[in-house]
Amino acid sequence: MSIEQLARDNVRALTPYQSARRLGGKGDVWLNANEYPTAVPFELSQQTLNRYPECQPKAVIENYAAYAGVKPEQVLVSRGADEGIELLVRAFCEPGRDAVLFCPPTYGMYSVSAETIGVECRTVPAKADWQLDLPAIADSLTDVKVVYVCSPNNPTGQIINPQDFRTLLEMTRDKALVVADEAYIEFCPQATLAGWLAEYPNLVILRTLSKAFALAGLRCGFTLANEEVIALLMKVIAPYPLSTPVADIAAQALSAQGIAAMRQRVSQILDERQYLVEALRTIDCVEQVFDSETNYVLARIKASSSVFKSLWDQGIILRDQNKQPSLSGCLRITIGTREESQRVIDALKAETV
Ligand code: PMP
Repeated sequence: MSIEQLARDNVRALTPYQSARRLGGKGDVWLNANEYPTAVPFELSQQTLNRYPECQPKAVIENYAAYAGVKPEQVLVSRGADEGIELLVRAFCEPGRDAVLFCPPTYGMYSVSAETIGVECRTVPAKADWQLDLPAIADSLTDVKVVYVCSPNNPTGQIINPQDFRTLLEMTRDKALVVADEAYIEFCPQATLAGWLAEYPNLVILRTLSKAFALAGLRCGFTLANEEVIALLMKVIAPYPLSTPVADIAAQALSAQGIAAMRQRVSQILDERQYLVEALRTIDCVEQVFDSETNYVLARIKASSSVFKSLWDQGIILRDQNKQPSLSGCLRITIGTREESQRVIDALKAETV
């Protein structure tokens, strides 16, 4: 038997997540991973690497709880929000029996995590305005244990109507978890559902330090939920999910000073987003620029594949969303520095299609 044949069937069939890093490219303008464009310096304060770290470092949990306005018992920290996505499947879905549900176009890791574990992915396409198709979701909930809803949504950039979240939470009460993926919530903080945890035992919220906190390389994310959910996730999480240097830097990033610095970065990104959006709207090959509440914008471009390739060859790496349902011709552009935005604008202006 070949080694390939030894692997589980669903793993053999799996297409791995096409992360920005995996897709490669030789760019000098990296606008394909929704990262913050410049590095924020940190110094390590802990020198105890001979010891195992705490599973849930107290300072990180307490700082995040205070920041998010929840109790420390309602916070789990993990290796990025991606680990949170996976822990939810592992703790709540029986392989071969239960399902997860999500509404494409959306973030790609919900399907990869479920498929890896052997859990069915049920999809209900978003409506034309990329809001939830609630009647279709209601008809698709048999055996669904986890519903992932990204808000603001990646890659479309809009917030999901809060009233629709309420309807969904009521519809799934006692049946399934509703996971609000708030990876980009710092760019529209008023839209968070964190204040709803007391009302809905089945609400789960995902957060990350990878975006507005400028720490994608740190790999640190959070799950906010009621104590019962957190206790179940704690049963399946690795014994030491965060290394000591990660916990050290995360605690610093979540200090009062760290949060103030994050808010400065957000306001700068929002200014840059306005600059980029206004410029894009004047360019011939740009058909449509969608409103965004995040640190990226989605645009529909004429001959998008050749434009994508042409910018790629010039070292400007964007994210091609053309293959996602309802996103034909769409490219996603992360908000970078002014110089990076200008490179994109100039390159797009030079495209004659
Ligand atoms: N959710 C969404 C919607 C994202 O865009 C990302 C980042 N790619 C994640 C979760 C994962 O974030 P992290 O870096 O914390 O694993």
